[in-house]
Amino acid sequence: MSLPSSTAELRALDAAHHLHPFSDMKSLNAEGSRIIVSAEGVWLTDSDGNRILDGMSGLWCVNVGYGRQEIVDAVARQMGELPYYNTFFKTTHKPAIELAARLAELTPPQFNRVFFTGSGSESNDTVIKLVRRYFQIKEKPEKKIIISRRNAYHGSTVAAGSLGGMAPMHGQSAPIPDILHIAQPYWWGEARQGETPEEFGLRTAQALEAAIDAMGEDRIAAFIAEPIQGAGGVIIPPATYWPEIARICRERDILFISDEVICGFGRTGAWFGCETFHTEPDILVMAKGITSGYMPLGAVMVADRVAEVLLEGGDFNHGYTYSGHPAACAAAIANLDIMQREDLVGRVANDAGPYLKARWSAFAEHPLVGEAPMIGLVGALELTPDKAGRTKFPDVGKVGTLARDFSFKNGLVMRAVRDRLIIAPPLVISHDEIDELVARARKTLDDTY
Ligand code: PLP
Repeated sequence: MSLPSSTAELRALDAAHHLHPFSDMKSLNAEGSRIIVSAEGVWLTDSDGNRILDGMSGLWCVNVGYGRQEIVDAVARQMGELPYYNTFFKTTHKPAIELAARLAELTPPQFNRVFFTGSGSESNDTVIKLVRRYFQIKEKPEKKIIISRRNAYHGSTVAAGSLGGMAPMHGQSAPIPDILHIAQPYWWGEARQGETPEEFGLRTAQALEAAIDAMGEDRIAAFIAEPIQGAGGVIIPPATYWPEIARICRERDILFISDEVICGFGRTGAWFGCETFHTEPDILVMAKGITSGYMPLGAVMVADRVAEVLLEGGDFNHGYTYSGHPAACAAAIANLDIMQREDLVGRVANDAGPYLKARWSAFAEHPLVGEAPMIGLVGALELTPDKAGRTKFPDVGKVGTLARDFSFKNGLVMRAVRDRLIIAPPLVISHDEIDELVARARKTLDDTY
């Protein structure tokens, strides 16, 4: 079969055969998909030859930018040498050995052991089993409830989707038992009238303690959270939130899981979001930025105090055919080489991050914008009809979708979560490209207003 060359014919073929993830299938069939054909740095090219600035790093993953030949070569070399072997049944291979050791070096000191998966969702499924196994071995099998937060996103498999707190997902597939969702630290959208961000942050964190008390500490296994809720709309907690959560996790017999699938690998200006917010997790969940999206790979890092119990317990009856896929590990190693050599984490913390934030924060003055938070290279614009009253649009999501579509027409990929526009550009974005991103975002706001 030879592929047609015109965009219209490609769209027709796509619509005829491809069921897309997280897409409105009805309107997709009517409008057709965007077809991206190539990319370089922070720029995408579509099938009509348009150049589009990728303000979302694909799906928050292309941290080192597109077109890194070094990663392509590393994957090709590995494919030539050993395209596949598994890591089951006491077997391994060199890329998995090297990557595991590299991750132990990069992560906070309590982490020295990793379990490889193929994605963020698989990582979170792994976490559920791993946490329950940990308490079984400790002879506390009744400790199996995992506390998560409303509007969290932890993936879309049955278990990871249940762990997440997305009502539209739960509506289409009921969550599995023993997962409890508490409040999210979304000050702009959920604070009481007159409540300061600090008061709200504290109150929301204390919902964790209240939930532990209500259910009984002997039934709670863990608390899972993204350092910044990403897919939920880039919800950056008030300064009081994480210290209080850290205190509760320290004082209670529960494990703390930091889902670093978005925040990990430099996004917040540290290697991991937990370092930005000074928390001390027992488990780190990773994917996306671990390979900058060049190959699918996920990982779960386990702190020594947990790993020691698991090792003592013997068999862990869990794993994936592609756990630690050699070519994916090779991509991750080359990706980490680039990140370290170019000090991309330092660049986010001290250069590109502050440069973008200064310009992004000015959007708070725009009549359509309620707040314009940003940390590292991840930010949001809350769109509102009335910024003083922190009012939401009556038809939730309509204005956000309109703005997102304007953004694409203006040559910038931003995503809309309800009426919140979000960005997370590649960590390599230059100052000129940031100026371009900001100009296109401003035009988008003006077009929408
Ligand atoms: N966890 C978080 C915080 C995520 O943002 C995502 C995806 O966006 C996932 C887990 C799921 O990752 P994947 O899509 O690789 O399964």
